[in-house]
Amino acid sequence: MPEHDELHSGLRPRTAVLTRGFDPSLSVGSARPAVFRSSTYVFATPEAAERAFAMTSGKIQPGTGERPDLIYSRISHPNAEILEDQIVPLEAGAQAAAVFNSGMAAIMTAFFTFGRHHGSIVYTTPLYGGTTGLIHHFLGPFGMRGIAVASGDSAGLDAAIAAASNLCMVYLETPANPTLTMTDIERTAEAAARHPDRPVVMVDNTFLGPTFQHPLQLGADLVLYSATKYLSGFSDMVAGVALARDPEIIQTLRSRRVMFGNILQPDECWMLDGRLPTVALRMNRQSKNAQRLAEALHGHKHLSRVIYPTLFRDPEQMRIFRKQCAFPGGIFSIEFEGGKPAAFDFLRHVRIARNAVSLGGVETLTCHPKTTTHSGMSDEELAESGVTDGLVRVSVGIEDWRDLLADFEQALAAVA
Ligand SMILES: *Cc1c(COP(=O)(O)O)cnc(C)c1O
Repeated sequence: MPEHDELHSGLRPRTAVLTRGFDPSLSVGSARPAVFRSSTYVFATPEAAERAFAMTSGKIQPGTGERPDLIYSRISHPNAEILEDQIVPLEAGAQAAAVFNSGMAAIMTAFFTFGRHHGSIVYTTPLYGGTTGLIHHFLGPFGMRGIAVASGDSAGLDAAIAAASNLCMVYLETPANPTLTMTDIERTAEAAARHPDRPVVMVDNTFLGPTFQHPLQLGADLVLYSATKYLSGFSDMVAGVALARDPEIIQTLRSRRVMFGNILQPDECWMLDGRLPTVALRMNRQSKNAQRLAEALHGHKHLSRVIYPTLFRDPEQMRIFRKQCAFPGGIFSIEFEGGKPAAFDFLRHVRIARNAVSLGGVETLTCHPKTTTHSGMSDEELAESGVTDGLVRVSVGIEDWRDLLADFEQALAAVA
């Protein structure tokens, strides 16, 4: 869709997300985007078709302000273009976005775009289980070397980056799941910039982005999302997004996306697009709720730990949190003195909060990471990452926090 950059360039993100990237005149005057389900697009002339193919394959460059005509929906379609334009202002520092049919599809496409034969990737642990699996079971057999560093270990990351040969990617997930351990994005990006191979620095920003943490402003090259979580926010769809400062990075990802066939479909693009204007509202409420709950539960007799950024006591973790996060976010973890039986008792007794994996939705969800989301990790990895028998992760929704607190207190009281 045509952009009116002059008109929208000075606007703040919460305004721009509503005004940028959608031209009602291209949707018969509809005030909000229509859905274009067509798989193929009609050309005005055979010459226009020739030009569209030449531009899409990179044989010729589009003129200023020119966008290639649409060809076929695996390449792109109007709802992907609208969504990609409208999501850019939400990610501070971003110039372009590409949408994928899941968070894993976005991550996989980034790995395949920047990975190379016998290359190496330095990454923080723990990572999302699917991402760990991709590195171990897919990049490994293709000849790439994964170099793991514990999240939060700033000096260890610097050293691993400096020592890595044929380094093509540095991959961070911060805060880590479910321990919320934070990694210093800016320091890591500086270490990567000193490396002669100039690896691409990628950050999975699913937990605190796009509202509370801005990796591109801290020197990262590429931000990746499971839009299934906070961006869509209602636990009713699966999607992924990649955003970058350099539009060429996104263009390269899009060309891989054409090969892989993993663009987000029109209906899903339309749904996700409608959720963007409320992301900041939802995340602010979720963060406030989570802070109230975590701080109220801190010190409870059944709990050995409540893990939440405002309760951090480690000076390095406190420093990173203050430096790179605007708010602590909607997720906290609690650890039961009574181990797994106590954690399971609690999960059996919560009534408002539901026992389900995933996060970022308007409803509160609880899960036991060790036996579910993190069950693929070895005992050693679990111990290293602090994923213990008694740990329960809570993704806080937008309910009234007092009802949630009462729910948690009655479930805690029911723990044997
Ligand atoms: C859920 C999640 C993913 C994977 O995203 P999907 O949309 O499920 O493919 C990746 N990273 C993090 C941090 C996640 O929470």
